[in-house]
Amino acid sequence: MSDAERRDEAPSHFIKDIVRADLAEGRYREVVTRFPPEPNGYLHIGHAKSICLNFGLAEEFGGRCHLRLDDTNPETESMEYVRAIQEDVRWLGFDWGEHLYFASDYFDRLYEWAVELIKKGKAYVDDLSPEEIRAYRGTLTEPGRESPYRNRSVEENLDLFERMRRGEFPDGSKVLRAKIDMASGNLNLRDPVMYRIKRATHYRTGDAWCLYPTYDWAHGQSDSIEGITHSICTLEFEDHRPLYDWFLDALGVHHPRQIEFARLRLTYTVMSKRKLTQLVQEGRVAGWDDPRMPTIAGLRRRGYTPEAIRDFCSRIGVAKKDSVVDVALLEHCLREDLNRRAERRMAVLRPLRVVIENYPEGQVEELEAVNNPEDASAGTRKVPFSRVLYIERDDFMEDPPKKFFRLAPGREVRLRYAYFVRCTDVVKDENGEVVELRCTYDPATRGGDAPDGRKVKATLHWVSAAHAVDAEVRLYDRLFTEPNPDGLKDDFREHLNPNSLEVLTGCKLEPSLGSVEPGERYQFERLGYFAADPDTGPGRPVFNRAVTLRDTWAKVRARGG
Ligand code: ATP
Ligand code: MG
Repeated sequence: MSDAERRDEAPSHFIKDIVRADLAEGRYREVVTRFPPEPNGYLHIGHAKSICLNFGLAEEFGGRCHLRLDDTNPETESMEYVRAIQEDVRWLGFDWGEHLYFASDYFDRLYEWAVELIKKGKAYVDDLSPEEIRAYRGTLTEPGRESPYRNRSVEENLDLFERMRRGEFPDGSKVLRAKIDMASGNLNLRDPVMYRIKRATHYRTGDAWCLYPTYDWAHGQSDSIEGITHSICTLEFEDHRPLYDWFLDALGVHHPRQIEFARLRLTYTVMSKRKLTQLVQEGRVAGWDDPRMPTIAGLRRRGYTPEAIRDFCSRIGVAKKDSVVDVALLEHCLREDLNRRAERRMAVLRPLRVVIENYPEGQVEELEAVNNPEDASAGTRKVPFSRVLYIERDDFMEDPPKKFFRLAPGREVRLRYAYFVRCTDVVKDENGEVVELRCTYDPATRGGDAPDGRKVKATLHWVSAAHAVDAEVRLYDRLFTEPNPDGLKDDFREHLNPNSLEVLTGCKLEPSLGSVEPGERYQFERLGYFAADPDTGPGRPVFNRAVTLRDTWAKVRARGG
């Protein structure tokens, strides 16, 4: 199925219905959406939901979607984040074309508009301290109090605001506020702050400004400047909508329609940028692209495909009600995608040496192996077989319990694509640990079947010792031990999973994996899906386990989850 077909199949949702109706009624002639990240961290899977939604709507209705960096907080923003955001959106498969914008490009315009509001008597300079402003604001049950500076004359306000801009006043000593209603039931309308004085160097505008707009003042106007028709945001902005409407009405400018939806939450991880930044800065993960992180960069390094992430976003849908999505669904989407596309290889993660005593020394056979049983066009490859092999350490038990069907002394199993082998002896070191198995093979079973019809209960993967490529393999588990690390009373960092990363060295891979490039993805037979890490060097692969083969989502679904 092509991407376009998959998208056509994407279920409808309430936002699509609104957009469709707006077009039908002629309220807007085109659809212009935007994805507006603040460049103060890397994008995560929650952002992917918003990206798929905004770019997806533009695509479906023949409109366009802007990428706008909402950069109004110079202290936390940087060019590194801007670059990472662009890379991640592109990697997910979306294109903003010419439409890359920065809220900081609008600083002059926003300033002029603020002056306009002052002239209309709709904004004033306040000398209260931030603490006083908070105290005067009141609570949900108590109206706020008006600032003693609220009724300054237009002339005085214009003069003070101009001097704020020129840098005549210290940081935090004055703010510009909208003059709305200190008794409003909506706290956002109690004379919100529009500008604060802050001597901070902005990564784009440098030291041109010592006055920065608040998010509430910048956001709606930025949407308006760009001619956004549908300004889609998460639920916490529902209570800000009346404020955005007030600003746009006061200025008499283009009015986008704001629509709120529930943000994505995922089990066993955190999604707030503040918390993710903490994990990075405190060195609790290796960086923003640590494969355990829910960031797009982390998921990419882990082995996720853009298709799997887009499929996930389509399946979770868009709703107004908050819910937590099981991370097993995300993993399921990756498994489905890679099952179709990833070639199979044999890799032994914890090697145990096997010597086939009746196999001629020095002989090598090239056996044919299927690249992908789901895709005949993927063809076959040759895998060398010889007298000394490696199998997985836990595929052997000296004293097996009843339900263990793999290799044991005296027992016969199949080696995939090769022969039946029987274990005849066990070699141990001075500590009694098994270090080698002695086996015999049956030459009549080449290809994996016995002409006499006898059966074996297990098929093992293996790698020829003389031909094996040594590799490092990194196994990941959930970053947190709790399904909802955000919702607990104590610090979320208390619940980090101490075993979320296991590094295995001395893994043995079949020789075709000797020259992999970072980003290549394979199914290691019986073990899971793996992706070559950027740490891969020439002839020295490093692999990340993206997901195991065990699909827990199928079980969740069967239970009606
Ligand atoms: P945080 O609260 O972690 O700081 P944020 O929402 O402030 O995140 P932004 O960079 O402002 O981060 O987000 C850009 C866009 O992505 C916003 O439009 C926001 O609504 C959307 N978004 C952020 N997190 C999620 C999420 N978990 N699910 C869906 N959309 C999200
Ligand atoms: Mg935000």
